[in-house]
Amino acid sequence: MSVLEIRDLHVSVETDQGTKPILKGVDLTIRTGETHAIMGPNGSGKSTLAYTIAGHPKYIVDSGSITLDGEDVLEMTVDARARAGLFLAMQYPVEIPGVTVTNFLRTAKTAIDGEAPAVRGWMKDVKSAMEKLRMDSSFAARNVNEGFSGGEKKRNEILQLELLKPLFAVLDETDSGLDVDALRIVSEGVNRAKENTGLGVLLITHYTRILRYIKPDFVHVFVNGRVAEEGGPELADRLEEEGYDRFLTETAVS
Ligand code: ADP
Ligand code: MG
Ligand code: MG
Repeated sequence: MSVLEIRDLHVSVETDQGTKPILKGVDLTIRTGETHAIMGPNGSGKSTLAYTIAGHPKYIVDSGSITLDGEDVLEMTVDARARAGLFLAMQYPVEIPGVTVTNFLRTAKTAIDGEAPAVRGWMKDVKSAMEKLRMDSSFAARNVNEGFSGGEKKRNEILQLELLKPLFAVLDETDSGLDVDALRIVSEGVNRAKENTGLGVLLITHYTRILRYIKPDFVHVFVNGRVAEEGGPELADRLEEEGYDRFLTETAVS
């Protein structure tokens, strides 16, 4: 078992108007095999948490820690984080002109494993993963995210997830912009990774819809840069009925 630990994390973001504090003391512990949902209103800092785990240079850690099995993640380069077993699917995936899906996957796999995958087995794995995600085979020759629809970008992220086999995946609004069929296919991919490799999942979402397909063990409500409430799956059901108003009112008063 591996553990990803976030302790009293304070993060600011560089803006044109100077630095702005966003995360104000986040505590989270995720073990492999567990699925944690982070839910919260827009602007509460959910993506900031994802970018910070990813090592995006715009996000400045003021204090606190992120460790993976005791190793300091914040000291690691972006590449080292991936090698250590962290996988980040961003809310807005970037285009990589001139790099095909196939080449990207192979390069990433080689970098993470420290050696190139054996060609035959690898080709088979890629083909099979694409089929399960209902991705047309012509997709493999296209440049990463270039002209991809919203649904294609999300499938491509889950394709990476299934093939790179990380310890932990941070999925930021993977549900946004997906129709029900695509949501089901993408969720099945995440669930396969959970079953096959004991993946730990940090599932960031504004809506409860995806939680019908990917069942969380723990739910954390994120408000104003910190965890305002925690519970089991029943907390998501409550949020579905009540929305975030209760939390927002409390924030306004404090
Ligand atoms: P969420 O994902 O919960 O909607 P974000 O982490 O995207 O929240 O944003 C939290 C707050 O930080 C918002 O007020 C947002 O405007 C601000 N913020 C985040 N990233 C940036 C950025 N790169 N530049 C300026 N402001 C940012
Ligand atoms: Mg947002
Ligand atoms: Mg966001």
